[in-house]
Amino acid sequence: MLVLDNRKRILMMNQAAKNWLLDDPSGPIPEALELLGSTEFLGAFEASQHTEDIVRRESKIYRRGEEKTVHISSQKILSPPRVILIVHDISRTVKLESMRQEFVANVSHELKTPVTSILGFVETLLDEDDGKAPQRAKFLGIIYKQSERLRNIIEDLLTLSRLEQEGNSVRLEPGNPIQVVSRALEACSDKADKKGTQVQFQSSFDGTLAMNAPLLEQAIINLVENGIKYGNPGGKVEVVLERQTDSLVISVHDDGPGIPQRELEAVFQRFYRLDKARSRAQGGTGLGLSIVKHIARVHRGTVKAQSSLGRGSVFTLTIPFVQPEDEVEIGLSS
Ligand code: ADP
Repeated sequence: MLVLDNRKRILMMNQAAKNWLLDDPSGPIPEALELLGSTEFLGAFEASQHTEDIVRRESKIYRRGEEKTVHISSQKILSPPRVILIVHDISRTVKLESMRQEFVANVSHELKTPVTSILGFVETLLDEDDGKAPQRAKFLGIIYKQSERLRNIIEDLLTLSRLEQEGNSVRLEPGNPIQVVSRALEACSDKADKKGTQVQFQSSFDGTLAMNAPLLEQAIINLVENGIKYGNPGGKVEVVLERQTDSLVISVHDDGPGIPQRELEAVFQRFYRLDKARSRAQGGTGLGLSIVKHIARVHRGTVKAQSSLGRGSVFTLTIPFVQPEDEVEIGLSS
């Protein structure tokens, strides 16, 4: 912890900060924040000058030849004028998280080939089935269905891994969201027809959005498919596009059974399912909404769920028009 005055003079450092940031932890503390040689600390200090909220940042800093990931929280106090910086070394957590991501990606990749092969052979056996051994056809059918489930889980895990690992470097380009929604609805039309679900689309927006079109389409497909899967037969799913001041709001409404209030956040967790048996029966993996959440994040946006039990659910994706990098550029050039 560091306490500074409003002219960046260091008034106090706790022992952990001294041990971590100073060459001689028992010596005198440097007078000014600049002397610690961290642009990240200076950035957090400056940002705090403009707000009374806590400024939170994650950044990489170099200490004694080692790269560390730190979480910096910074807050201004008005009287006396002070800024408090709290720095957490989160290098270990970040490393473990990246090992976990890599592990999931590798395992999923390894599992993909054998499952594809099992599916292929079972499909051939089913095609050649002459109906003389009904048990055999039944069991092959079960093996086929379960292998398909495995394949879906692997595909979803691979999508999640890619989003986690490449999330920040995904390219966003101006595109027309109406076209994206139309393509998504086209992809869901078979499932909707089978269940007798009426799918509608309404848009009061006609413009472009910085997006990754295939990913955004995937997110909308996941939400609409859920509306169909968990909705009642003959029900209704509606996609609505609306402009908010600085973002586009894409909402997917259904008139299904809804989701209890206490579960509205949990449904976005990996493998979380309200009703496991029902989700499985519908071919669900429990990963669809976490993929949507990651896709929202890639677009610097958010997704949230609202619901009224017995009356339906609304999933809302909010995607900003102006991406943070653009803002920085505008800020620098003006
Ligand atoms: P799944 O593959 O099981 O559909 P998701 O991550 O897409 O996984 O959804 C997680 C859980 O949230 C689902 O298993 C279901 O219980 C619940 N859920 C998602 N969408 C809806 C919806 N539109 N209506 C009711 N429940 C839903």
